[in-house]
Amino acid sequence: MKKGRVIINRNICDNAKECGGIEVCPTGAMYWDEENQMIGYNAAECIDCGLCADNCPVEAILWGIDDEDYERKNKEVEEETRTLEELNVERYGAAPIEEFIENSVLDEFKNKTTSPYILFEFFKDESIQCLLHSIRVEEIKALFGNGDNVTYTKVCLSDEDICNICNISEFPALVVLKDGNISGVIEGYYDDEQKEEFFKKLVDLK
Ligand code: SF4
Repeated sequence: MKKGRVIINRNICDNAKECGGIEVCPTGAMYWDEENQMIGYNAAECIDCGLCADNCPVEAILWGIDDEDYERKNKEVEEETRTLEELNVERYGAAPIEEFIENSVLDEFKNKTTSPYILFEFFKDESIQCLLHSIRVEEIKALFGNGDNVTYTKVCLSDEDICNICNISEFPALVVLKDGNISGVIEGYYDDEQKEEFFKKLVDLK
């Protein structure tokens, strides 16, 4: 039987340092590869316990119980059509990522939604990795009452004017709109440990 029957589906793996697979791996076969800034896997160290696969929250780590199972899963990964962007939506509960090219799109969006609160999480290409590791959108939405009360969208920003309108100087930036007016912006990356501080700031913007 093949040794090291773990497959990492790189199409949907968000390469979080705090990967559940790394956390539970008893041998270090699954590790954080500092040089390449990605999750690494060393089949020679793997004892095929399958724990990493069980602990990947996005099912990006697969493990074959035997060679046949491994081959089948490997084929599935080769044929994977989902993308990291879709995973972002599935995992974090945000609306699909939109790209703002013109200022007017912001107004269009405001007119389209009936939610009293609109939250835009703005990012630029280089900051998307941070967002993927940040606090879950569902928890943020819950502060605003969930449901129709709040709309949350992650937006790839390409228009500098929006930065000026929203007073954004750092990414990622979370802009809160209440009844169509900007009530504030929180800039920079907050990780799970800073959640309370982040939530307090958010509640102040309600
Ligand atoms: S199967 Fe077990 S030993 Fe192998 S990488 Fe996963 S957790 Fe580590």
